Amino acid sequence: MMISHFSHQHPLSPYQVELDHHDQKGDDHDHDHEDQMITICSGCELELISGSSAYKCNKPGCDFRLHELCSELPGEIRHASHPQHPLSLLFTPRYDFSCRACAGSGTAFIYSCTACRIDLHVSCSALAESVKRADHEHPLELVFSSKGKECCGVCGCSLMDGCWAYSCKECGNFGTHLECAAAEEEEEREETSLGSSKKE
Ligand SMILES: [Zn+2]
Ligand SMILES: [Zn+2]
Ligand SMILES: [Zn+2]
Ligand SMILES: [Zn+2]
Ligand SMILES: [Zn+2]
Ligand SMILES: [Zn+2]
Repeated sequence: MMISHFSHQHPLSPYQVELDHHDQKGDDHDHDHEDQMITICSGCELELISGSSAYKCNKPGCDFRLHELCSELPGEIRHASHPQHPLSLLFTPRYDFSCRACAGSGTAFIYSCTACRIDLHVSCSALAESVKRADHEHPLELVFSSKGKECCGVCGCSLMDGCWAYSCKECGNFGTHLECAAAEEEEEREETSLGSSKKE
């Protein structure tokens, strides 16, 4: 069954994601540089995990793909970081886009308050409100403005002033970058794809 999606001019068909290589479960990572056919979701710019359901464009030569969950993203959300207004799902912002959470840019879906010029990657908007790291005794909570003088407890680099971060309320001085907090358990990489964070 084909669907049409507001973000793309061609109809999309469902398919099962398959990768052209097999994940190596062993310890031997010598072959990491072999060409891995990783496909990226055109909505959230994250990897399409092998075996998951997704949509792709029917047009030959068109590489547009979406996670099933990304095809079903609500057109409007409320987010704790900006309680005043709803954020609308937009595609390919026309202006210079800087994510309020991670300061990164992007070319795919964002949630945006156009009145306040607040933009979020959809992946950043779906970040868990707290994470538990094996190397820290307390849960880390998502904070919407970090202090630039703090250093990331995982990688040691300074946190970006004003960006989101994960921070320990108990210790007060332990925080991590968004991506560093998620960099922990390799087996749970799927957590970084949209949707699985809230439901399970
Ligand atoms: Zn996606
Ligand atoms: Zn297309
Ligand atoms: Zn972001
Ligand atoms: Zn607003
Ligand atoms: Zn870090
Ligand atoms: Zn702590």
